[in-house]
Formats: sequence, structure tokens, C-alpha cells
Amino acid sequence: MKTRFAPSPTGYIHIGNVRSAIYPYLLAKQQSGKFILRIEDTDRARFVEDATTLIEDILKWLGLDWDEGPIVGGPNGPYFQSERKAIYLEWAKKLLASGQAYADDTDAETIDKYRKVCYNKKIPFLYRDFRPENPPQWQEGIPIRFKADPKPRKWYDAVMGDLEAGPETQDDIILIKADGLPTYNFAHIIDDYLMEVSYVIRGVEYLPSIPNYLAIYEALGIEAPGLVSLPHILAPSGNKKLGKRDGAKSVTQYRDDGILPEAMLNYLANLGWNDGTEEEIYTKEELIQKFSLDKVQKSGARYDETKLLWMNGQWIRRLVNEEGVEKFYPRTQGFWPESATNYSDEDRIQVLGIIYDRLKTLGDLREMTDYFFRDPQIDLDVLMKNKALKKLSEEEVSGLLQQSFEKLNGLEDWDEQNLQDALNELLAETGTKPAVLFSAIRIAVSFAPFSPALPLTLKVLGKNTSLARIQNVITAIEND
Ligand code: GLU
Repeated sequence: MKTRFAPSPTGYIHIGNVRSAIYPYLLAKQQSGKFILRIEDTDRARFVEDATTLIEDILKWLGLDWDEGPIVGGPNGPYFQSERKAIYLEWAKKLLASGQAYADDTDAETIDKYRKVCYNKKIPFLYRDFRPENPPQWQEGIPIRFKADPKPRKWYDAVMGDLEAGPETQDDIILIKADGLPTYNFAHIIDDYLMEVSYVIRGVEYLPSIPNYLAIYEALGIEAPGLVSLPHILAPSGNKKLGKRDGAKSVTQYRDDGILPEAMLNYLANLGWNDGTEEEIYTKEELIQKFSLDKVQKSGARYDETKLLWMNGQWIRRLVNEEGVEKFYPRTQGFWPESATNYSDEDRIQVLGIIYDRLKTLGDLREMTDYFFRDPQIDLDVLMKNKALKKLSEEEVSGLLQQSFEKLNGLEDWDEQNLQDALNELLAETGTKPAVLFSAIRIAVSFAPFSPALPLTLKVLGKNTSLARIQNVITAIEND
């Protein structure tokens, strides 16, 4: 089993692209086969510098290591199409020699005229209807076109099932362009053959071209690999293909926002595939074991960022619970608020340990932990308009905080259990509901929309900081 991922280095790594890497990878690994990375860089107009490095980084980040391709090499390289120019030409010349291709110097204007003729007659434009009678001798600078042998074609697609197409789907497509570089349509066929690819797994946008590919395989006398079409990923609205404008970020952006590779892999693998159970969380190893093409759904899968964030939260919890917070901590580098800069790893680990189960992305650390590292801005409006406190007067809130201050100030050991007990006693003594008392204290010490459980929050803030912050709010109310 050999599969491949064949991206074009255009700079932006779309989620849909990456799914076309994940499925081939899973299949190859499941069958102890090889996963190939091939860079399809023959379209110079779309070429973006460094885009290959970006692709390599993302694959490595996701844990999709390739067995053959850039960096690692392999028996059937080079793995950059731009370095294989001579190979494509040699194969195109075979077709020229056998009369199954022809040199064609018809200019763009003339082709446009043909197109208009068909448009006016309301018939589909097929270049083969205008095939030149006396094509020139081929020489450099002249495109080479395939000479189609149109006929009904049948094939099997492991996702889409049995498929067939009529002769109208096949045309004289260009194999080699005027610049000597091959078209995608031709290059990938030669590469997949020479690289011994057993399954070509790619987006469904290539499905309409498959009859043409089958014709080329036939003309070359080579057996077609398994041809598999993956349905589109749809915009959240579900009525169109997911595009840059639908709120989906590039994979690099998600990485930089603090999505874990485990979650990204899991989410994208599940987008349009499941093993037939209710299970949603899969490790890479489980995916390798369970994946099968016949369970990939035929219709488009709807992209749902909320689900991705949920899954990421699940993964953060799972990893911290499994490996412990110290081991997980290095992954949070770069995601802490600036206020944490001068704090030690131990301090941050302590904060992480009480907040991790509320994170959806690592990027949430920035907002959700700032108050652990610096005094929050006091905003009495936020305090007084809180859902649990809005029926109370400033005096009442201040009174509650005063009583809390005194109680907490009396605590000798500032640990979770003592804090919990003290808060319970305060509830009884003040006769308030937990939501009211705890909100008042929580907001006074954090001014954040939420925080971990109050005893934990207070414990990590420490006695001095907690009491000073409560006192500051009491003073602010007095001065209001
Ligand atoms: N270079 C093509 C793309 O990026 C790859 C299609 C294929 O997998 O063959 O869309």
C-alpha cells in the first residue's frame, strides 16, 4: 500500500487540503505501507516562496510523517514536480510517437473563437471537435495535447462507489504547456505511476476529470491506481464549499491560536468519517486502526468550528489528566499573558493546574489567567451588574466583602480545605446564597467573567493578594 499527499505550494493551508493528507496517511499506516509527500509546484503563477516549508511543518506538527518525499528522499524521487520536467516530456513523447498525442500551436485567440462558436450553437465546447488536421512537428515551446479516444468509461471509487461516464467527458487535454512544464492532469498520472502509488485520494473536484485520466492511463498502457474522491468540506451554512471567507482559518492559524495537533487531526479525520459508533475522540493510533474508506460519507461534511473547539478542550483535559500538568506545560509556551512573564514555571504550572479544564484553546490562557499575575482593573459596574449581585446595594456588597475579609484574614493555613470550610461558615453567618457570596468574592479578586472554583482560585492567588484585592474593592465602593 502506497498513498500520497500531493499539495501545491500556494501558501495557504486549508483544512480541506489537510484532510486529503490525513486519510491517505491513515490508510498507508494501517496496512504497513508507505506515505509519500510530493510537491506539485509546476504552476509557477501560483507558486509561493516558503510554502513547502509551511506544508512540511504542518504535516510534522500533525504527526503525519512521510516515508518518501522532500527531506527524507526515497527511491522514486525527486519529489518536487519542478525537478521532474524531463520525465514528463519523455512520457509525452511516447504518446507523440504512438500518435496518441500531438503538438499544437493553435493560439489562444483561435481557441476562444472555437469556444464562441459552440456557445452560440449552445453545444458544449470540446477541443477535439476542432482538432487541427495537420499538427506541426513538435519542438520546444509548442504545447503537447492528448488525442482523446472518447468512449464510455466505468470505474470504481472506494468512497463514491461504481461510477461511469460517457464519451462527452473526454477531450484533447493539454499534457505539456508552452513553457515545457506539464499540466497537473498529466504530471500526476506519471508521478503516481512511477512512485507506485496504489491509491490516489483527493478532493471530489477532480472527479469530472477522471474519464480523461482513464483515457491517458489506457493510452500509456498502465494500470490506473485506486481513484478515490473525498467529498467537499462545506461551509457552516451547509450550502456551499468551505472557503476562506466562511470563518475557517488556515491550519497554521489554528495552530497559532492554540489548537492541539491531536485535536486538529481528530476533528478533521472525523469530518465526514466515523467508525459507525458514537465515539468521537480518537488518538492517531486509534484512527490508524479504525479508518476505512468505505465509511467516508459521500456527501459533503459541514465544517463546525464550535465542534473543533469543544474537541480541543476535550484533548487538553485528556492529556493533562493522562500525562500530568508538568508534562503538558511545555505546550503552553507562548500562550501566557504578558503579565506572566516574570513568574516562574512553577507558578504558571500551578495556575494551569486549576484552569486547564476550562480551556478551549491554549490561547484562552491569555485572557483567563491574566488576573493571577497582576491586579485586575477594578470596575464597580462589572461587580454591581453581575447576575447574582444586581439586586444588592453597594453597601450590602461592601458588607459582604468586609465580613469575608475578616473571616479569611483569620485563616492560619491558606489551603483548599480551610478555604472551603471558611467559605461555608461565611455562607451560614451571612445568610446569603452561595451564588451571591461567591460571586462577590470571585469578582473582587479577579474581575474576570469566570474563574476556577473559588477555594482554588484564592489558594493560588495567595492570602496577601486575595485579601489586598478584596480590601481594594471595599475602598473603591467607599470612595464611589
Ligand atoms: N496538487 C493538487 C492540489 O493541491 C493535488 C491533487 C491531487 O491530490 O492529486 O489540489
